[in-house]
Amino acid sequence: MKKILIDNIVEKLGFDECLFPKLIPIPTMDKMRYLDGLPEGMYYCSAPKRDPEVFNKFKNELAINREIPMDLLKSGLKDPAYVLAAAQCEPFYEFLSHEVIDEKDLPIKFYDKSGWTYRWESGGAKGIDRVHEFQRIELVWIDKPEETSEIRDFTLELSHELATKLELEWYTEIGDDPFYLEGRKVENRGIEFPDVPKYEMRLKVPGQEKGVAVVSANVHGTHFTEGFSIREAHKHTLWTGCTGLGLTRWLFGFLAQKGFDENNWPELIKNQYKKTKIPKILTWPKSKE
Ligand SMILES: [Zn+2]
Repeated sequence: MKKILIDNIVEKLGFDECLFPKLIPIPTMDKMRYLDGLPEGMYYCSAPKRDPEVFNKFKNELAINREIPMDLLKSGLKDPAYVLAAAQCEPFYEFLSHEVIDEKDLPIKFYDKSGWTYRWESGGAKGIDRVHEFQRIELVWIDKPEETSEIRDFTLELSHELATKLELEWYTEIGDDPFYLEGRKVENRGIEFPDVPKYEMRLKVPGQEKGVAVVSANVHGTHFTEGFSIREAHKHTLWTGCTGLGLTRWLFGFLAQKGFDENNWPELIKNQYKKTKIPKILTWPKSKE
């Protein structure tokens, strides 16, 4: 599925691959405005203190009781300094932060397929379509306003074409305004917004009213160029955009519509399909008795 998405959408639009870090410093997340919007939706990371005494105590207690001394562990940790990437495009804005770009050298278009995005879904996690860590291909770009919106539209169009090629039923709707823009609108600091910040493409799921969202295509206006002080050489306005392709969700929607019998799958999938050898384990998977 990853290869199919890259061949049919990402490569066709000339995005260059980057490996974005997944440990995002909290100040970066603050510039993203995620701390105003959804502080309860992320995983926070703490590095250990340089305190051998605490950790010696920890090891001793663990050895004696065989029970993890959680309080000791906590006392050996520093304050959280990072979150695990929740948007997957954060490093792009940080990379460009306080840089100046001449508009004639635009667009800059990168994508990351290096893996996991993390969200704390509290009680909402289910199946393989809503999980705490998920696979996604994230496309992110910067350009002049009109061009930024155009790139977003291209990512959507190619997604539609691919879904049709895969013989899937799909629809696209206007997504809820992203929470980070909400805060900005109230602030009214002269941030420019697109008319439609977010489109969501969904694959229909039989027996379910709402389809599964597989593409989230966003234009952020000047939200990130302001927040990260990214400037154009002639003081012209720059916008950013990002499109997330949810890998496991494409898979989920595909299987929901086409089932597990490979004879019913379209050629495009059959050609790429390689069976995984499932190890024989006496006690796994659990039988349904
Ligand atoms: Zn993004």
